Amino acid sequence: MRSGHLFIISGPSGAGKGTLVKELVRLMPDLWVSVSATTRTPRPEERDGVDYYFLTPAEFDGRVRAGEFLEHAEVHGNRYGTLRRAVERRISHGMDVILEIDPQGAFQVRKHMDRSRLIFVKAPTPEDLEKRIRHRGAENDDQIRTRLETARREMELEGSYDHVVINDDVLRATEDLMAYIHSVSEPPEDKDL
Ligand code: 5GP
Repeated sequence: MRSGHLFIISGPSGAGKGTLVKELVRLMPDLWVSVSATTRTPRPEERDGVDYYFLTPAEFDGRVRAGEFLEHAEVHGNRYGTLRRAVERRISHGMDVILEIDPQGAFQVRKHMDRSRLIFVKAPTPEDLEKRIRHRGAENDDQIRTRLETARREMELEGSYDHVVINDDVLRATEDLMAYIHSVSEPPEDKDL
């Protein structure tokens, strides 16, 4: 059986990664999206085990020490990590897996798994990104400033990714993502063989 591929969807916060991943899975239900662990407090609509595994800092540390994370990073003052076992099991069973994680985590995974593909999702312009970060409404001024600074640094990493998707329109950007995933999972046959 062929192994599955690991697609890492990453890029600055506010670029709309979450919306694109939801739309992608609606159109490609065979993809499996990893559920991350985090020490962040759940938002009202979020459910444990569905949106994230919500852990205390001590529980998170315990899992780091036990080597259970494929990658982990601190993002905007909270810790986030991808649980290794669930991802590796699905890939070995031939499933294509999606991670939606921050750039620090994305480059950690690439170091260990050379078959992984890094996809950078960006807003059409820096002004759009700033508008989206400011209008999310969930954060206070300090948190918005931190997110804007992090986003500016993360925009500079674009050239190190395997594929770039501009999120100017959700459907168009999702189609771009789907075409890229198909081109990796089912490369065209070599007619000369
Ligand atoms: P939020 O708290 O808004 O759900 O996510 C904040 C940031 O954490 C987003 O950029 C998201 O991609 C990132 N993130 C979510 N899960 C993980 C993870 O497992 N690992 C890493 N490194 N980043 C994550």
